[in-house]
Amino acid sequence: MIDFPALMQLAEASAAVTQKCACSSVPLAAWQSLPTSLELEKLEEVGTLVEDPYDEPTFKEYHPNGTRYESEDAPIAPRYYPANLSQVLRCQVCGRHFLRYNEAGGYFTELRMRALRPELLVDAAL
Ligand SMILES: [Zn+2]
Repeated sequence: MIDFPALMQLAEASAAVTQKCACSSVPLAAWQSLPTSLELEKLEEVGTLVEDPYDEPTFKEYHPNGTRYESEDAPIAPRYYPANLSQVLRCQVCGRHFLRYNEAGGYFTELRMRALRPELLVDAAL
């Protein structure tokens, strides 16, 4: 499992990448379904934010400043939904990092992704 300091390092490494890359042709600033332009084989999983796979995860979201799930500036708090269900992916071409989880609704499941941005990370307790 990736802890908060390690996650912050990955986010900062990501923010330092300036090269253009297919992985970020769609900004992914907010959670969204996987863009069709994304070359999934270029993304490798580097770890998970799931603390305990046998634990029932919380569906509480973290929005102290009135953001919403779909906000581009919504905090990324690893203990809160949906970061708590996410895997961390790295683009093998440029080194940017992303979070990805499986959104399971009543009648569908959908993989969703969001860019990992250091300015949004919050080490908030549940
Ligand atoms: Zn890339």
